Amino acid sequence: MKKKAVYLIIIIIGALLIFSCYKLLHKTSEPVNVPDNTTTRTTTSTTSSTTTTTSTTTKTEVERTVTTTKTTKTTTKKTTTTTTTTKAVPDSTGTTSKGYKIEVKNGITYVDGYLIANKSYGLPKSYNPGSLTSETKKAANEMFEDYIEENNKKMWAQSGFRSYETQKSIYERYVKRDGQAGADRYSARPGNSEHQTGLAFDVCVTGYACISSGFNDTAPAKWLSANAYKYGFILRYPKGKESITGYKHESWHFRYVGKDLAQKLYNDGDWITMEEYFGIDSKYSS
Ligand SMILES: [Zn+2]
Repeated sequence: MKKKAVYLIIIIIGALLIFSCYKLLHKTSEPVNVPDNTTTRTTTSTTSSTTTTTSTTTKTEVERTVTTTKTTKTTTKKTTTTTTTTKAVPDSTGTTSKGYKIEVKNGITYVDGYLIANKSYGLPKSYNPGSLTSETKKAANEMFEDYIEENNKKMWAQSGFRSYETQKSIYERYVKRDGQAGADRYSARPGNSEHQTGLAFDVCVTGYACISSGFNDTAPAKWLSANAYKYGFILRYPKGKESITGYKHESWHFRYVGKDLAQKLYNDGDWITMEEYFGIDSKYSS
């Protein structure tokens, strides 16, 4: 009887041990599942926003690897989109009303080899030289140095290269203030600004109105109109040419074209516009 009781106790203890072992194993397996679940959640949020990714990254090494792979994938996707946009406009050639060759390469229009950005000829959204071109900067610095030497006043480029996005926010601000028709007389729509080319800039001089009609007919405005061509610059929006260029007179806006063309357009002080010289329009299609 005693032996039977002892066996029974052993069996009960054994059964209890097996049960608790099973319980313990089941419990420890739970936390292993948790990171698996969060990994899935993290992956989902990664696709929607990068900010979420940063906050969830700290969990485990596995998750970090997952996040890195995702980010790389997004970057690759972005690059592909840009390439597609650039290729969207087919290359073409033609002739202006004055017989100059028009070439469209990667969405950029060149007339007789000169890049054109006006109301008729725009630039791709992706066109971004990042700053004024080295030739433009070099010529501008020479002009500014000579002006300072002659007049003892500082002259500088207040506004040079502008990206598509920057122009978009500037133009939208003007439209809110003056309406679209009003803004179109003095501000380019995004993709149509000469500032996006990296070849144009707005000049300011110490003691004078800066980038406003108050600069027109001042001594430095007259100096620029008489001398800019010597450095390869043209007065892009001369007085009385609004119907041709599409813009009000801007005595402060200069465009680099090189000395040869600049001399021709200077025309002994009676500035000819790029539109008149090449026989092209500057009008929005809508
Ligand atoms: Zn300008």
